[in-house]
Amino acid sequence: MGQGIAENLKAIHHRIGIACEKAGRNPNSVYLVAVGKTHPASAMEEAILAGQRIFGENRVQEASAKWPELKTRYPELSLHLIGPLQTNKVKQALSLFDVIETVDRPKLAEHLAKEKKGVSPFPHCFVQVNIGEEPQKSGILPKDADAFIDYCLEDLKLPITGVMGIPPVDVPPHPYFSLLAEIARKHRLPHTSMGMSGDFETAIACGATYVRVGTAIFGVR
Ligand SMILES: *Cc1c(COP(=O)(O)O)cnc(C)c1O
Repeated sequence: MGQGIAENLKAIHHRIGIACEKAGRNPNSVYLVAVGKTHPASAMEEAILAGQRIFGENRVQEASAKWPELKTRYPELSLHLIGPLQTNKVKQALSLFDVIETVDRPKLAEHLAKEKKGVSPFPHCFVQVNIGEEPQKSGILPKDADAFIDYCLEDLKLPITGVMGIPPVDVPPHPYFSLLAEIARKHRLPHTSMGMSGDFETAIACGATYVRVGTAIFGVR
């Protein structure tokens, strides 16, 4: 990358601002999730010192090694789980993450709901939608998303506040982002998490409220 993390963050915020302006959106309506996977705690602290407060990790194990100490020192941090959650790691995840973006199947939703009484505050949850209907990706299929969101909200009383998705690579992401934003709108969910280093401006144009950026902040993995 050749640039420091602070400079990279500044550049991303600038680009978010321009994308919001083009879309006629308030720049405060888009939050940047800094994705730290594979990068050390020292890099996370560099971002924290530059003012970054929301971070994403895709593995519970890695996050458990990296974040508890930082969260103690910087209690205002918000940590998002953006990778698959195995049911045997639910308790560990609930003790570490503030937002779980990857509620992707009934069994996981049921496990999360079972822990609700014992965990306060309980993390906000997003439903992950497999917007490209790709077999290698996690997420509920778009055709099942409505029923699954209703099940989570009404039957399980899970605090679902958004949806998350990852479009297929190598095709224009616009239709996939629009589909995800439409699902959020239909259920009146305030948050849509979509867009990464290569496509976050398009995601903002389609209504993203969280963009998840790793490489453009911390460098290549
Ligand atoms: C790694 C990752 C990102 C960030 O991707 P970059 O291309 O490095 O910005 C975003 N979302 C998820 C789910 C990821 O696993």
